[in-house]
Amino acid sequence: MPSCGGERDEREFERGLVDLKIEDASEEALLPPLPQITEETRPFWESCEKGVLSLQRCASCSQFRFPPSVICPNCASMDHSWEPVSGLGTVFSFVTFKRLYHKAFASLLPYVVAVVELSEGPRMVSRLVALGEDDSLKCGAPVKVRFERQGNELMLPLFELVDAK
Ligand SMILES: [Zn+2]
Repeated sequence: MPSCGGERDEREFERGLVDLKIEDASEEALLPPLPQITEETRPFWESCEKGVLSLQRCASCSQFRFPPSVICPNCASMDHSWEPVSGLGTVFSFVTFKRLYHKAFASLLPYVVAVVELSEGPRMVSRLVALGEDDSLKCGAPVKVRFERQGNELMLPLFELVDAK
C-alpha cells in the first residue's frame, strides 16, 4: 500500500538533510543545478551573457512572452523577435528558504526565491539577492535584474530591490 507521508517519511527527510550538510562537498556538487540550454532558449542565455535581459516578442500581436516558446500563447503566431527589456519589475510572490535542499546553496541560507512580474508583462522565477538582514520584503516591491555568473558557467538573471545599496 503506498504511503501518503507521515512521521516515517518526515524522519527520512530530516536525515537526508543532515547527510546533505555533513557530506564532503565536491566542486561539482557546489554548483547549483543549472538550466539546460536548448535551441529555443539559446538567444535568452546569449543575451544574459552580455548582461542584457531579452524576451521573445510576438511579431503579430507585439506581446512579450516568457518562458521561450515556439508559438505565441496569446495569438498562436510563430513569428517573433528577441528584444532587450528594461530588467525592471515587481515581486509578485516570494518564499524564503531556511532549510538546505542543495549543497550549492549552503552559503546563501536563508535565501529568497521570487516570482518577478516584469514591467513588460511576463513573470519569471528567480532569486532575490542583496536583501541584507532586513525582513520587510513585500509583494509589489520594485526590483531590477542583476546578472551573476554561476561558477564558470551561465550568467543567471537574479533580482535585487531597486533601492538596494
Ligand atoms: Zn502573438
